[in-house]
Parts: sequence; structure tokens; C-alpha cells
Amino acid sequence: MAYDFDLFVIGAGSGGVRAARFAAGFGAKVAVAESRYLGGTCVNVGCVPKKLLVYGAHVADELEQAAGYGWTLEEGHFDWGTLIANKNREIERLNGIYRNLLVNSGVTLVQGHARITGPNEVEVEGQRYSTEHILIATGGWPQVPDIPGKELAITSNEAFYLKDLPRRVLVVGGGYIAVEFAGIFQGLGAATTLLYRGDLFLRGFDGSVRTHLKEELEKRGLDLQFNADIQRIDKLEDGSLKATLKDGRELVADCIFYATGRRPMLDNLGLENTGVELDDKGYVRVDDQYQTTAPSILAIGDVIGRVQLTPVALAEGMAVARRLFKPEQYRPVDYQNIPTAVFSQPPIGTVGLTEEQAIEQGYEVKVFESRFRAMKLTLTDIQEKTLMKLVVDAKTDKVLGCHMVGPDAGEIIQGLGIALKAGATKQQFDETIGVHPTAAEEFVTMRTVTR
Ligand code: FAD
Ligand code: NDP
Repeated sequence: MAYDFDLFVIGAGSGGVRAARFAAGFGAKVAVAESRYLGGTCVNVGCVPKKLLVYGAHVADELEQAAGYGWTLEEGHFDWGTLIANKNREIERLNGIYRNLLVNSGVTLVQGHARITGPNEVEVEGQRYSTEHILIATGGWPQVPDIPGKELAITSNEAFYLKDLPRRVLVVGGGYIAVEFAGIFQGLGAATTLLYRGDLFLRGFDGSVRTHLKEELEKRGLDLQFNADIQRIDKLEDGSLKATLKDGRELVADCIFYATGRRPMLDNLGLENTGVELDDKGYVRVDDQYQTTAPSILAIGDVIGRVQLTPVALAEGMAVARRLFKPEQYRPVDYQNIPTAVFSQPPIGTVGLTEEQAIEQGYEVKVFESRFRAMKLTLTDIQEKTLMKLVVDAKTDKVLGCHMVGPDAGEIIQGLGIALKAGATKQQFDETIGVHPTAAEEFVTMRTVTR
């Protein structure tokens, strides 16, 4: 049977755009439907605008350090409206680039909400399209716990478009987004409190990293409240918000920002018309080649709930395009040793196993840990410390994990990701000549076993 398309992609985010472009490049007839914004979460309300706001907040650090380097500056003034307007302009430019990328690679762009009406049919704005394969790449959406007053809270979606910088902010959550936005709000001058329900935030990250970041954030004056959870939110007469915690305490703020995880975006997608099954957490169930339980339908990215990072969605998109239209080039995505950064202030960079994971997996581990004051701070009064840590397999000498908290951690960890992928040993780290003077050279000069 002749279909309108070989592949119909739902969602023009990180994974969908990558799959669509490469499939079209391999000669397939491809359409992509997008209901909101080209480039998806990452470009519009994720990685990109977040990093721009992080840069904005980081300027405060540079200003603080300036005096030590002989600079006398007039008293600075920060204007949130300017930062947001400039950020919005950049996002619009990127939206245009994504449009051109798709159109120039021969992909048909269909604007509107897509709904699957059968195993080989998608409907957008009343128009039906037949297709041999459907790719679900619809991403995720912020999830706020169901508490009284939850509608008074905002999520990352709204934070990027706030009209003013709130004076007092409560950030709820202890994952990537909570820690990053706490740094943004505080760096830009808001009195910020981070509330996390457990003993220590960033569950799943290396223990030394979590403790070190906690100490550094406290040094910066961020109010960290662990074992704290909001029971209800009420609006006060003056417009501010009162959060009543489960332990009875009351906190008042101008903005309550929830970053308590994301759910798969499956709203009105028409899955009931397909044989697509969900896993026990509600994500689309796929096999190791992104095939759902319906033979003609595949899924990638945040909606499958594996690793919710843009480079992972890109790799999955590429794998699907190759699997369907260039099978001789197909290579499975390697989920081992994915490097990642948390753009907190200071940032975290990490790749490989944490010390806790290595021990749990039965390795006999040697840990090398170093804490030092970065050279750049020596002419200032700032006492911030950088942490670097290597987790090594004592038996084979293989480096199992690299972890860092400190300036440029994300930039530094990318290169170490290659070393880990190549299976580098601690001896090879030691034999690598350092770049002097940098912070990064510490990763090749740590000689004394800490544990
Ligand atoms: P998305 O990029 O979410 O794209 C899905 C697209 O599908 C959306 O455009 C949506 O509008 C569209 N869509 C949904 N349903 C339909 C429908 N029925 N019809 C038509 N269109 C539909 N990752 C990093 O690697 N680094 C970071 O620094 C980083 N920072 C982040 C910061 C924040 C605040 C957030 C929220 C996320 C961040 N991420 C980061 C995660 C990253 O954004 C996601 O992992 C990535 O965008 C997932 O890509 P995706 O293709 O699965 O989905
Ligand atoms: P995460 O899953 O990273 O963190 C969610 C946090 O919210 C956890 O601390 C969790 O606590 C807490 N939480 C969950 N449910 C509740 C609840 N009902 N009440 C109180 N607290 C709760 O989600 P994020 O929203 O921060 O980010 C989503 C994903 O996006 C990330 O996992 C990451 O993959 C991606 N991302 C990547 C970034 C990067 O690469 N720099 C930046 C931003 C996002 P607990 O640990 O106790 O379960």
C-alpha cells in the first residue's frame, strides 16, 4: 500500500528533529508535526534558555571577583526584563534555524497537535495522513504534586517568562532543575530557599559531590532546607504566597517554583487507538530498538523515560533513522558512561559510576579526591573550593567514574567522557601531561589514595 509518508514524527524536539532530518537525508519521505515550538523543550524552555540565565547569574560572581584584580566598578544594576527579552530573541532565532534545518532537508512540517488515529494514521487539525511508521517523540511536561494551592505555584515552563524577578523564591525539589534554578534566582539577587523532601539533594549523584555542593551553596547564602515538604499554598492579601510545611512551619515568598520531576507528554495522543503499552511508571514501553508494542510505532526521548537528556534523545533519534532507513549503519545507543552536568553555581560535571554505585556493583574501589581553592580566587576573598574525584577499580586500574564540582565542570567532564569510553586506566590518567595552570590538570595529578 502506498502511504503519504514513510515516517511521521510527532514532536519537533531534540529527538524528533534529529530522527526526521536524518531519515529524510537517507531518502525517506518524512513529516514532523509540532504543536508548540520548534526545537522542543531544550530550545524553548530547557537547556538553552536555562544556560543563558545561568550565564546571567554568573556575572554576579565575576563582579564580586573584579576588585581583587584591580577593577573598581560603579554599583551594578540587574534588569530581569532585558535578560528575558534578549533570551527570547535568541530563542526565536533558534526556532528559525530549526525550521530551516527541517525544510532544507526535505521534511514536511505540519503545525498542530497530532493524534494517532490508527497504526498507520495520524490526524493533525482535522487532516489525516497515512504513514508506514510513526515515531512518538513528544517529550515530557513538569509534574507538580497534588496539594491544595498547587495552581499558585509555577514550574520551569513559566519561570522563563516571569515579568519580574521575584524578591523571595521558594524552590521545591532536589534534582537538576531545582538546583539549577535556585542558583539562577539567588545569583540574580532573589532571596532563595530550596526545599527538598529528603536528607540531601541530588539523589543518585556521588555522595562527595552532593555534600560538597551543599556546603558551597550554603557558603553563598542559599537557604537549604532538607526534610522539608510543602503541605499547602495560600495566597495572602498582599499577593504574596504562604507555604505551610508538613512540619507546621510557614514560609512566605513571592514565587513558589516546583521542580519535582517530569511526566511523559501523552495528552490526547490517541494511544487508545494503538497497541502501544506503557511501563509501570507511565512511560512508553519500547524494546532496545525503540519499537513499541505496536509494530508500526516507535518512541524515543523523554517520553520513554530512560535518560532525560538532549544528547541522549539525539542519539536515539539517529538510531531510529538508521534502523529504519539505513540499517547497515545502525549502531545501538551506548547508555554507559553518559557524561552530564548540573549547571548549578558552582556547577557539577560527572561521568561513570559514583563511589556508592561502584561499591554496590561489587568493585573493590580506590578513591582519589582533591579539594582546592581555584587559582582565580586567590586574589579575592572568596573561599569557594573545587572538588575533583576519581573512582578507580583497584583490580584492573580502570577509571570507573570522574566527578567534579567547580567552575567549568561541564566543559572539563566532556573530555573525560571520551577517556572513560575508551576504557582508560588510572595509570593512563597519571601518564597524561597536564595543561598548566588549569584546574583540569588536577584530574591527571591526583596520586594519593583518599580511601
Ligand atoms: P522535547 O524536546 O520535549 O520535544 C517534544 C516536542 O513534542 C515538543 O516540542 C512538544 O511541543 C511536541 N509535542 C508533544 N505532544 C505533541 C503532539 N501530540 N503533537 C505535536 N507535537 C507534540 N538536557 C540536557 O541535556 N542538558 C540540559 O542542560 C538540560 N536542561 C534542561 C532544563 C530544563 C528546565 C528542562 C525542562 C529540561 C532540560 N533538559 C536538559 C532535558 C532536555 O530538554 C530533554 O531531555 C529533551 O528536550 C528531550 O527531547 P525530546 O525530543 O524527547 O522531547
Ligand atoms: P528530577 O527527576 O531530576 O528531580 C526531581 C526532584 O523532585 C527529586 O529531588 C525528587 O525527590 C523530587 N520530587 C519528586 N516528587 C516529589 C514530590 N511529590 N514532592 C516533593 N519532591 C518531589 O527532575 P527535574 O524536574 O529536576 O528534571 C527532569 C529531568 O530533566 C532531569 O532528571 C534531567 O534528566 C533533565 N534535566 C537535565 C539538566 C541538565 O542536563 N543539566 C537540567 C535540567 C533537567 P527524590 O529524589 O526524593 O525522588
